[in-house]
Amino acid sequence: MALNVIMMGPPGAGKGTQAERFARERGLLKISTGEILREAVQSHTPIGLKAKAIVDAGKLVDDATMIGIVRERLLQPDAMRGFVLDGFPRTVAQAQALDAIMAERDGGPLIVVEVVVPQAELVKRLSTRRICASCGFNADPFDGGAGHRCKRCGGEFVQRTDDNEAVVLKRLGIYDRDTRPLVEYYKTRPTFRVVYGAQSPEQVAKDLDQAIDTAAALGETAVRNTL
Ligand code: AMP
Repeated sequence: MALNVIMMGPPGAGKGTQAERFARERGLLKISTGEILREAVQSHTPIGLKAKAIVDAGKLVDDATMIGIVRERLLQPDAMRGFVLDGFPRTVAQAQALDAIMAERDGGPLIVVEVVVPQAELVKRLSTRRICASCGFNADPFDGGAGHRCKRCGGEFVQRTDDNEAVVLKRLGIYDRDTRPLVEYYKTRPTFRVVYGAQSPEQVAKDLDQAIDTAAALGETAVRNTL
């Protein structure tokens, strides 16, 4: 059965890193909406031109644009085996749209993992985080972290334009206001899980794998019972 995972959590929780690792290990498609937008900004596409000022200010790009991007990607054949979503949904409207897309795909339940990290730790992490200047890939802590060259394209690591302190605080505020309500939206589902993210990346990986695997087993039982 398809493994469909949403990695939720505030900026700096490590969800991008874990989403990348999990998708790679399980052979799933990873969709990072932040990465898609950064690539669009770099290649000056119409979406990139529209999104640049919004992303740089730490605000959210409009729901219709984001839902359009994700919908198109999730309905392609290579997404049918399952996916890991990083950075989407970020609003209740996006979560409702995702439920509608899932109904269209008809391919297994959504597993939602919230990665929880105290705010002081998030601010510290974001001020030292680095991404590749050429392709936007996050410096990978499983691979020695920042300071090395990008393993995807060999580019240099730099600070993200939206990782400076003022924008970080703004993004954390927007997370609390617009995205945290999603926990209420999802938490009554049997496939909702919480993982503590202020641990080593290896320990978070272990906890996450266990959380996702137990949720997936539940989802399979539920599907069998309806057959
Ligand atoms: P991220 O890499 O997930 O931290 O995303 C970087 C920025 O891209 C965010 O601060 C937003 O400006 C924008 N963004 C990414 N995903 C979304 C989304 N699902 N909805 C609205 N804006 C988004």
